[in-house]
Amino acid sequence: MAIERTFSMIKPDATKRNLTGAITKMLEDAGLRVIASKRVWMSKREAEGFYAVHKERPFFGELVEGMTSGPTVVQVLEGEGAILKNREIMGATNPANADEGTIRKTHALSIGENSVHGSDAPETAAQEIAYWFSETEIVG
Ligand code: ATP
Ligand code: MG
Repeated sequence: MAIERTFSMIKPDATKRNLTGAITKMLEDAGLRVIASKRVWMSKREAEGFYAVHKERPFFGELVEGMTSGPTVVQVLEGEGAILKNREIMGATNPANADEGTIRKTHALSIGENSVHGSDAPETAAQEIAYWFSETEIVG
């Protein structure tokens, strides 16, 4: 499998509980390398733009509110099959359905406060990386 880059975000529910290091360790232990990272408190406009694909969903307001309720850590991850590997280590969207050992099973509070985001395909990975990072901020 090819070396890929994917976008990851540690959400406010996790940064508030001081889990940035614990979650990053789980990503690194799974073989992913953090090649860009910064802490941002996103604006409502940034959150709405980032999650625009969900704007018609009933939970959109709650999602934007949660994402702007505290700092997030945005990261670019690199590794063999990084996009799928990150989704596997994240676990299912609803932590009640997530496998043992995944980030969401270990740390998430609910389907809304589920601690991490990860890109779901090569196209969204490229878009999401470009949404948060310039080329010079990514150091592989
Ligand atoms: P993410 O895109 O954050 O990595 P995901 O791809 O597993 O998560 P999506 O279907 O893309 O899940 O939903 C985006 C986010 O919206 C979820 O991570 C969750 O925080 C929130 N969300 C999804 N479904 C619900 C719901 N039914 N109620 C509340 N929040 C939800
Ligand atoms: Mg998603």
